[in-house]
Amino acid sequence: MKIVAFTIEGNGTYALDVPRFAEAIKGAAADLILVAGNSRVKRAMPAAALRAGAAIDTNVVDIALDGDKATVQRWAYRQRILTAFTRTARPWVVVTDPSLFAALCEKAGVAPAALPDAAAAATTRTTCNGVVAAGNGGASTIKPDSPLLFVAGAGWTKKQADGAAHLDEAAATITGFLAKSGASLGSSKSLVDMPEAARAFSFMSHMNQVGQTGSTPRHAKGLSTCCHGEEPHVVGWRFIGERRAVNLDANCGWAQGKADVLYVADAFAVMKKVNELLG
Ligand SMILES: Cc1cc2nc3c(=O)[nH]c(=O)nc-3n(C[C@H](O)[C@H](O)[C@H](O)COP(=O)(O)OP(=O)(O)OC[C@H]3O[C@@H](n4cnc5c(N)ncnc54)[C@H](O)[C@@H]3O)c2cc1C
Repeated sequence: MKIVAFTIEGNGTYALDVPRFAEAIKGAAADLILVAGNSRVKRAMPAAALRAGAAIDTNVVDIALDGDKATVQRWAYRQRILTAFTRTARPWVVVTDPSLFAALCEKAGVAPAALPDAAAAATTRTTCNGVVAAGNGGASTIKPDSPLLFVAGAGWTKKQADGAAHLDEAAATITGFLAKSGASLGSSKSLVDMPEAARAFSFMSHMNQVGQTGSTPRHAKGLSTCCHGEEPHVVGWRFIGERRAVNLDANCGWAQGKADVLYVADAFAVMKKVNELLG
């Protein structure tokens, strides 16, 4: 198995680095290409690998070689599960954490070489003239300074009593409440993982996810709607002062001592009324 290792230092721009790195991958004609994952590499190398028809894995922390087989290790689920896996695809670009690069090169028996031309200065650099924050009706749904966290769960996408899902109504109700209350928007993992929700709820992303693998926001109060109150979600609520939830299910997780008040009610109806009261 042919293994090469590259170091890539200095500044680069994505547009110039992608074709340059892709040429380097092809030119190396290697089975395995080890690269130290600094920010420049992490930005451009995945696209370069795609362009060069190579497989790529980032954040690799260990490597073991056995003949033509290479096995790498990588943490998953926010450093909770250490995975070990191999690939048959070649070339295979293995991006390691920079601090582990030297040790992994030694293990693989290769000496790293600076990527030719990588240090060539970028001809154009982007300069930032300022930042314009999105307004309340825009994309800034995460507001750490708000006194209230409003969490939307996957129930907003589920079939309701009439047998149909009401995604547009749900989106309008949620954004209507956010605009009127100034609340910060949180979400459950189930909701942000749903492709249909991504289309209808374009105002939320994985950044809104609260929980074990999401964020741990700090707000004086929290209101959870259409979210079951599973432990991996609720653990993200540990710094929320007063917790309330609206759920159709009287036996949902919030009822098991996780909320101060649980309203067993239809969140569509409750939030519609709340929005009316807020004017
Ligand atoms: C290792 C691990 C880590 C995880 N990390 C996270 C994490 O960080 N964050 C996270 O959120 N999850 C996490 N999860 C997933 C978590 O366990 C749950 O699957 C997820 O939180 C469930 O999301 P949900 O409550 O929105 O959806 P569901 O479980 O589908 O619940 C939907 C709820 O909506 C209610 N509902 C439906 N319609 C209405 C209505 N009209 N009015 C009121 N209520 C209604 C239903 O009664 C139901 O309780 C993790 C899981 C694992 C295994």
